[in-house]
Amino acid sequence: VPNYTLDFAVIAGLALAVAFYFGREFIFGADQATSAGFVAGGDDNDRDLKATLKKNNKNAVVFFGSQTGTAEDYATKLAKELHSKFGLSVLIADMADYDYDNFQDMNSDYLFFFLVATYGEGEPTDNAVEFFNWLEGDADQITNVKYTVFGLGNSTYEFYNAMGAKLNDRFEALGAERIAPYGQGDDGIGTMDEDFLSWKEECFDSLKNNLDLEEREVEYEPSFKLIEQDSQVASADGVSNGEPNKAYVDMSKDLSKGPFDHTHPYLAPVSTTRELFVSNDRSCVHAEFDISDSNLRYSTGDHLAIWPSNSNNNVSRFLECFGYSARKDEVFSLQALDTTVSIPFPVPITYEAAVRHHMEISGPISRQALASIAPFAPDEETKKEALRLGGDKVLFAKEIHDCNLNLSDALLKISKGTKWDSVPFVFLVELMPSLQPRYYSISSSSLSEKTSIHVTAVVEVEKFDDHIVSGVATNLLKDIEVHQNATKFAHNINYDLKGPKNKFSGFKLPVHVRRSTFKLPSNPGTPVILVGPGTGVAPMRGFVRERTRLLKQDSNVTIGKTLLFYGCRNSKEDFLYKEEWPEYAKELGDSFEMDVAFSRETDQKVYVQDKILARAETVDELLKNGAYVYVCGDASKMARDVQSTFVKIISTQRGLPEEKAAELVRSLKVQNRYQEDVW
Ligand code: FAD
Repeated sequence: VPNYTLDFAVIAGLALAVAFYFGREFIFGADQATSAGFVAGGDDNDRDLKATLKKNNKNAVVFFGSQTGTAEDYATKLAKELHSKFGLSVLIADMADYDYDNFQDMNSDYLFFFLVATYGEGEPTDNAVEFFNWLEGDADQITNVKYTVFGLGNSTYEFYNAMGAKLNDRFEALGAERIAPYGQGDDGIGTMDEDFLSWKEECFDSLKNNLDLEEREVEYEPSFKLIEQDSQVASADGVSNGEPNKAYVDMSKDLSKGPFDHTHPYLAPVSTTRELFVSNDRSCVHAEFDISDSNLRYSTGDHLAIWPSNSNNNVSRFLECFGYSARKDEVFSLQALDTTVSIPFPVPITYEAAVRHHMEISGPISRQALASIAPFAPDEETKKEALRLGGDKVLFAKEIHDCNLNLSDALLKISKGTKWDSVPFVFLVELMPSLQPRYYSISSSSLSEKTSIHVTAVVEVEKFDDHIVSGVATNLLKDIEVHQNATKFAHNINYDLKGPKNKFSGFKLPVHVRRSTFKLPSNPGTPVILVGPGTGVAPMRGFVRERTRLLKQDSNVTIGKTLLFYGCRNSKEDFLYKEEWPEYAKELGDSFEMDVAFSRETDQKVYVQDKILARAETVDELLKNGAYVYVCGDASKMARDVQSTFVKIISTQRGLPEEKAAELVRSLKVQNRYQEDVW
């Protein structure tokens, strides 16, 4: 059965659901809306999963292991459908929120759905680390457990979907019963959404056919009740204007003290910015975050997470599309319709602040999102068109996805400019993924810059005939650079730089540090081979600064060879930190060497891997002397090409068959002597 046929059934169901939703609001009044029947997150004090399920009368769990928010977003949507279609009472569970030592005692009526992403080099996401430790360590037989898994991965990485597959295999080995096929999605070829939809359909078929669950019409039931706070004004104390969390709304605690993490950022002043490219329409921003007034610390090679907000244009267009422009400063609150549902952002809050600071409104829209919003279309013709596009994979790709439209652009295109002002705001709160921090490989050294964190970000912006597609965080950094240095940029996109109640003024941004395993060898005498084309040079700059600093501190210290391979288009436009490298070379002397590949300066394109190959003898010699290899940058092609180049070098230099050389490179990885930081 083609996907779209099934989807059409879903959409038809949704249409009925909306009629039900409006009817119910009318008949019962909003106060008596029934519980949505699922919960997000666990009880704060209760890490006992079994007890939580019992206490809240749940019979299914959708777990998410999520780094960038996609798995979490899918989990919320899956839970909602499991409830509305099959009447399951579902707990949405962050994998970090529970202990697993009594997993073997689970009631055999419970159903477990795992949506787990694989991060970096076949690693679990931060919130799934403890779960996998348990799974590979203390886990007993779990023959009572009924489960299925969907892995979120990227096929351009070597360990594609390693965590999803591991969970599935290990559960099978521990005797758990899989209730629906294992599925996986591939971000590398851009099919994640469609892969998830296909898996979900298979999964629902299995629930019907193997577990005899009965499917009902899909009914939209809000998970929250939206309460308009007419008596509140945006400027009142306690009203959120988009602060990152409650502590920032109340300013109740010392905000310069951590711990700082994905729930609580530090509001760091961006003390310095500068443009690194010489170009009218391409940009790469160097930004320095001052952490001297906080106890936020980092170590060289870590990542900085920047919490962005949406651009003025995208915010106004979104508010306009859904009829909230005139009401943007009005205040509302949310009440969870289940005691343990977590409200996605601090409330009370203004409509504009919720959109600007908490919703991912700029990115591409999924077919599922379009299908689910179609019933709220402003007129019949628009609804028909939205259902048609939402129900047809090929049409959707052609008319929406390939045109790089975000939600409001897509909806206004479909309705030919008519506002979608019948969409309940609470529906948007649930539909839009929450705005996620963006990660950057830190380009400073914690030894030489103890109280400052540098990042190097290439600005994602592309102009099409009728609209500009822009990345959220990088254009925010660029806007700061333009304001700080009074520069000009052809595609500058404006943001509210003062932030909620002016709390971000003085160019502050919320940030936290993510520890990484991308680290220099502890002995500075160990040789290193650094491969960092484009912004992949960011952590390499940190490493080189670290070694320079070490030598400055103690001129007797032996610094091992530092061989850096860098690549960019040409020497005049995008050669990052061009003026700094000769300085490092002066300080480090012969121990530092840099080879640069300019891909557009000669007829034949030259890349870092060509430069590495040209130095085959030196590279092999360094490897034999215990060198560590570091590769950073583009995951899709560069990292693989570089790895095969190392295989080739080892094979030719040592006269070994390629498989043997590939095995050697793999063993270097296991020993942490070949490290990657790719995205
Ligand atoms: P986003 O808003 O996340 O958008 C992503 C892309 O989608 C952009 O290209 C954008 O133009 C495009 N897009 C936006 N809207 C649409 C639409 N409607 N339809 C289609 N496409 C759309 N980056 C660096 O520059 N330097 C680093 O040092 C660095 N280090 C990293 C380290 C790690 C561990 C990771 C995971 C990533 C790293 N990145 C780095 C990438 C970085 O995290 C961001 O992904 C990148 O900067 C883009 O962020 P953004 O918010 O500007 O774009």
